Amino acid sequence: MTLLTFRFAPSPNGELHLGHAYSALLNQQMAARADGRLLLRIEDIDITRCTPEFEAGIYRDLKWLGLAWEEPVRRQSEHFSEYKAVLDRLIAEELVYPAFMSRGEIRAFIAEAGKRGRDWPRDPDGVPLYPPLDRALSVKERKRRIAENASFAWRLDVDAAMARVSGALSWTEFTDGTMVATHTVEARPQSWGDVIVARRDIPTSYHLAVVVDDALQSVSHVVRGQDLYAATGVQRLLQELLGLSPPRYFHHRLILGPDGRKLSKSLKDTGLAALRDAGTSPQEIRRLVGL
Ligand code: GLU
Repeated sequence: MTLLTFRFAPSPNGELHLGHAYSALLNQQMAARADGRLLLRIEDIDITRCTPEFEAGIYRDLKWLGLAWEEPVRRQSEHFSEYKAVLDRLIAEELVYPAFMSRGEIRAFIAEAGKRGRDWPRDPDGVPLYPPLDRALSVKERKRRIAENASFAWRLDVDAAMARVSGALSWTEFTDGTMVATHTVEARPQSWGDVIVARRDIPTSYHLAVVVDDALQSVSHVVRGQDLYAATGVQRLLQELLGLSPPRYFHHRLILGPDGRKLSKSLKDTGLAALRDAGTSPQEIRRLVGL
């Protein structure tokens, strides 16, 4: 039987909080029950916001919680050339295009659409979809702008991409800790519009790096927060385009703050380091997150 493989994949752009503790401990618990592997992956492609101090904090907090993982840890920032090779395939297949509009231009376009009585569609996070203008630019015009050093991002042409998919696009969600009960969820990547797949200076995005790495590391079970549920649709589409076999998913409940909202990395009092400094024990952390 092949080993089940789990991973916890934090971004070192802030301190870990109770929500991360829940996710990490749940991965640990499921991996242990399945006698499987537990990987830690550092998702540090955003080189402006990720810092060595936050990364060191992740190792410190997770060790304190009692987590053990396989070495070496994969740090995404060390693998840009691998993501670039995958991006080049998408470029060659004309599934991505350079998108040049600035935030201000997008806002102006949407305001204009509003004046014409058009309620511009938004993605599941409430962000307006990217306007279709750049998708229609000629190859000559794209080249001209790139040569002029215009800033741009590579965006997925979601309609072209969906046209490549034969049959229904879905994923398997397992619904409890036994990993046996499952149901099929329809993937709806179109609800995100033409998402960013890479930047001019960084040849990947969260979505691209996550699907490449989950496949490369033979992750069989992705256990992560409910906040990434809808995003799984985009990741399923990328997996189809790249011929990667998908893991199963379990999107767990979120740990909410006292105000009933999702915890953020700036909420100091739910930070694991602050709780530890205040004398909280790892056992109490488990209890606090309901494990
Ligand atoms: N790096 C992502 C985060 O910290 C998690 C990605 C994932 O689990 O797929 O939110």
